Amino acid sequence: MKTIFEKSNGVDGINLTDENMDVSFLDSSLLRSEKIGLPQLGELDVMRHYKELSDRNFCIEKGFYPLGSCTMKYNPKVNEFLASLEDFGNLHPLADDADCQGALELMYKLQEALKTLTGMDAVTLQPSAGAHGELTGMMIIKKYFETKGDLRKKVIIPDSAHGTNPASAKMCGFDIVEIKSNDRGQVDIEALKSVLDKDVAAIMMTNPNTLGLFEENVLEISRLMHENGSLLYYDGANFNAIMGYTNPELMGFDVVHLNLHKTMATPHGGGGPGAGPVCVTEALKEFLPAPFVDFDGQKYFRNYNIKHSIGSVKAFYGNFGVLVKAYAYILMMGKNLKNASENAVLNANYLKEKLKKYYDLPYDEVCMHEFVLSGEKQKHENGVSTLNIAKALMDENTHPPTVYFPLIVHEAIMIEPTESETKEKMDEFADIMIKIAKEAEINPEKLISAPHSTPVKRVDETLAARHPDLKFQG
Ligand SMILES: *Cc1c(COP(=O)(O)O)cnc(C)c1O
Repeated sequence: MKTIFEKSNGVDGINLTDENMDVSFLDSSLLRSEKIGLPQLGELDVMRHYKELSDRNFCIEKGFYPLGSCTMKYNPKVNEFLASLEDFGNLHPLADDADCQGALELMYKLQEALKTLTGMDAVTLQPSAGAHGELTGMMIIKKYFETKGDLRKKVIIPDSAHGTNPASAKMCGFDIVEIKSNDRGQVDIEALKSVLDKDVAAIMMTNPNTLGLFEENVLEISRLMHENGSLLYYDGANFNAIMGYTNPELMGFDVVHLNLHKTMATPHGGGGPGAGPVCVTEALKEFLPAPFVDFDGQKYFRNYNIKHSIGSVKAFYGNFGVLVKAYAYILMMGKNLKNASENAVLNANYLKEKLKKYYDLPYDEVCMHEFVLSGEKQKHENGVSTLNIAKALMDENTHPPTVYFPLIVHEAIMIEPTESETKEKMDEFADIMIKIAKEAEINPEKLISAPHSTPVKRVDETLAARHPDLKFQG
């Protein structure tokens, strides 16, 4: 496909220059001496160009998107309509409380809904993503210990954790203590006990963890942590697996972030925007960022009166548009949120059982909303790596799953179908994965050189990351 500059044919689509415009009042140094070189095409050609470009995008509207841990579920379009309502969209962030009661009410009710779902006592809607929520949560934990005069330096993190966990804790000045998972992919209690001392501020856990497995010993872990005076941080990226069945409070957590852009069906990918609210227990409420949205029985207001607040973590009040979409989703689903989790788990187990005969399954257990295969067999027997399998999936109009994460699985292929896909779609995907496994045996070369049908074929991933070439060279 040609760039719009190459397509330029000198046709005036729209003329921006007015020959007769008097620009004498401008300083001559500000005036252009030559043409800027914008492409020139008729309106219809411009439209077709951008339509063709947009057709090349892969999105959930176009095909299956089983990106493990990222939860690429269907985002109801009515949410977009609601978020773009004029009274929401045109609201000024500096409006007085009295002039934005509706928006504040929505935020307050979303906070209440998240409290119900997580079992926590207070919420900030400010953080704009999961990682931002982690940072906020770790700042709260740090301030909690500082206020008690009990300076603790260490945070324990299992080796299956998402990379943002150690990064967030480190940014807050904590030292990271990594503990190994046991042979069933769970936090190893003995390993935990061996590192637990009075310098440990917290543990960061994801439950179900990034292998899609529920941490069976979570109650024992929270007992050990609390007995040691330490806190528990819940990475809620996988909250979509447990909604309505259990919650972080029942498991003994003190601080929780939720990724509304994963669990609550708001669009993501391509860098956001997202929302990563942080929910805390009563004991940590006085450390929340200011302001949070409060209600005095008559009116909604922004409450800045937070005794040991860590301060603000975001300009204004969070990504409001995302909050509207998430609240709409929660209201629309109601009690069916529980069914969403149930179906996400059912779909994942169904696919896992269909695929485990063809790919290694290092942790062969009943999974939650996702599972992790390994491409080891294909790599060693056929020279076809997980990367090759991912590229081959692109030829089948399927977004590749998350690969090479979690780090504790070699050649990891992390699959999350979500609840919004049908059995037929799952069967279709399984057939494609099985076809690729067979292809690896008889025609590995085809996979090694995949993708064959995409506009851009194999890219040099290192070069693309280190020296991105983003400019048209003319
Ligand atoms: C997505 C994810 C995060 C980070 O969330 P963002 O919203 O992308 O910042 C953290 N932990 C886990 C397990 C995740 O899947």
